[in-house]
Amino acid sequence: MKIKLLMGNEAIAQGAIRAGVKVVSGYPGTPSTEVLEAIARDNKKDIYVEWSVNEKVALEVAAGAAYTGARSLVTMKQVGLNVASDPLMSLAYIGVKGGMVILVADDPGPISSQTEQDTRHFARFAHLPIFDPSTPEEAYDMIGEAFALSEKFSTPVLFRPTTQVCHACASVEIKEAIEIKEIEGFIKDPKWVIFPKLSYQNHIKIIENETKISEDFSKSIYNQIIGAGTKGIVACGASFLPAAEILEYLPNDVRLMKISTPHPFPEKLAFEFLKNLDEVLVIEELDPVVEENLLRMCGKMGLKIHIKGKLTGDLPIAGKYSYEIVRTAIYRFLGEKLPLDNQAELLQIPIRPPVLCAGCPHRASFYSVKMAMKKAKQRAVFTGDIGCYTLGNAKPLDMVDTCLCMGAGITIAQGLQRVEDDSKKIAFIGDSTFFHTGISGILNAVYNETDITVIILDNSTTAMTGHQPHPGTGKTMMGNLAEKISIENVLRGCGVGFIKKSNPLNYEDAMDAVTQAVNYKGVSAVIFESPCIAVIKPKTISHIKENCIGCKKCLKEIGCPAMSIKERKVSIQPHLCYGCGLCRNICPVNAIGGEKE
Ligand code: SF4
Ligand code: SF4
Repeated sequence: MKIKLLMGNEAIAQGAIRAGVKVVSGYPGTPSTEVLEAIARDNKKDIYVEWSVNEKVALEVAAGAAYTGARSLVTMKQVGLNVASDPLMSLAYIGVKGGMVILVADDPGPISSQTEQDTRHFARFAHLPIFDPSTPEEAYDMIGEAFALSEKFSTPVLFRPTTQVCHACASVEIKEAIEIKEIEGFIKDPKWVIFPKLSYQNHIKIIENETKISEDFSKSIYNQIIGAGTKGIVACGASFLPAAEILEYLPNDVRLMKISTPHPFPEKLAFEFLKNLDEVLVIEELDPVVEENLLRMCGKMGLKIHIKGKLTGDLPIAGKYSYEIVRTAIYRFLGEKLPLDNQAELLQIPIRPPVLCAGCPHRASFYSVKMAMKKAKQRAVFTGDIGCYTLGNAKPLDMVDTCLCMGAGITIAQGLQRVEDDSKKIAFIGDSTFFHTGISGILNAVYNETDITVIILDNSTTAMTGHQPHPGTGKTMMGNLAEKISIENVLRGCGVGFIKKSNPLNYEDAMDAVTQAVNYKGVSAVIFESPCIAVIKPKTISHIKENCIGCKKCLKEIGCPAMSIKERKVSIQPHLCYGCGLCRNICPVNAIGGEKE
């Protein structure tokens, strides 16, 4: 028996490898990213792995592989599923041949997402089964079950770990590989073509399958009833472990139900659980999905049970459930007094707002746009996007006026321009996001003759999620060198009338590029090219010289975290400075020394 200490996402990756996955596609997004990376790293070079340009594309690539009978996995975060929802809904009707698992990691909190949306709703909406693991160990085994269920019912299956499972570490028992069927290959059949008549027939079939899967789920080892009593607690996903542990130390007779397959809801098991109970507390992160299922069952079965949870205000409606939140809710539900002496003392960690790294070239890009507009005395609206460039909203840069979702910086700018043409609309987007959903926005702007400027912050990587390759980097996830897709050529192909490339760290040139672009009537673009500091070596670091007059302009204008106040004077932390030189352009008395001297 081999035991390995694995992060939840690595455990899922190992589980997928064990289950014989052959094709893995995805788009990076916290907290899901490491699943695909670990499969790419740990497999015996017999699995095809790719970062696709967006989640819709990734899902379709995995679906194609599953049509041949191969097992496929697609990974994304919850907001990524919105992008992939079009093929998802159709694929639920068409089905698959080889097992196909769609891993969508939810982010309660949210720690690094636009929304707290709950993927379990998508399962119900698309009529797809969903697995909700409680621990990394369980996720390792469960993903194999998800592939098996997918093949048994010829349906894609959703797999939804949350942050506390994805990023937790645990000792996982690595088991023998699961034996799987030979890959049959693609066999032509009208069933793969989504015609309206077929959709009607398949709609009936998938509803019938939901009933059968619900019965299977009632017998699943991942759903359990533990203990006895007239009070019941239901715990789901990452909340199960703390709930079970807290109950161990309480003398009360409580019936605990673990739900790891929230859709189709395991009604038979839930009915067993509800029998003779007076009150039930439901503990689940994000939306009251299981709570509503239990309320529905009580209505259907005529049961008079008080179901408590989010809808009754017994648990918070949003956010991650910490151990303390679960403990407080359980103690209150059972009428127990929280032992003061026993309360865990939580370390108060100082709040550190998200900020662009010291030396990040995006800081220079934002600053040059800001200064160019200031110099031109032109009012401007800055439409931001998802990624490192969202951090441009922090003071003192203050360069993000809107941020909605991936690619929307460019399209929101167009909507603003249609109504208000007295200010310049400047949209920011990163290189990976440009390929994700930026191109269609650019096409729309050109086709519909809008007057906007797009600033592409090309740092040669997908930085925010951990430096994944993309079509502009000239590398694939399989480790091959590939033809670089030129952002400039794509813009030209889309018909953008003015395109200028510039290095944002070359301050004068960067300002000039922006000025020219905003003066162009129509769709213009500036591509700011400068690699992320995490993929280059630091240059000669900067230092404050004797002639510093202490005006603090350097500190106040760019907010570089390498700069601080020391004994009432500005100082540069040598271990943080990357030598980008931006501050040297700002000092009015040339009091910052460094490489350019
Ligand atoms: S050179 Fe200046 S702006 Fe650049 S990292 Fe160092 S202190 Fe920050
Ligand atoms: S801008 Fe120049 S003079 Fe002013 S505090 Fe910074 S280093 Fe000193």
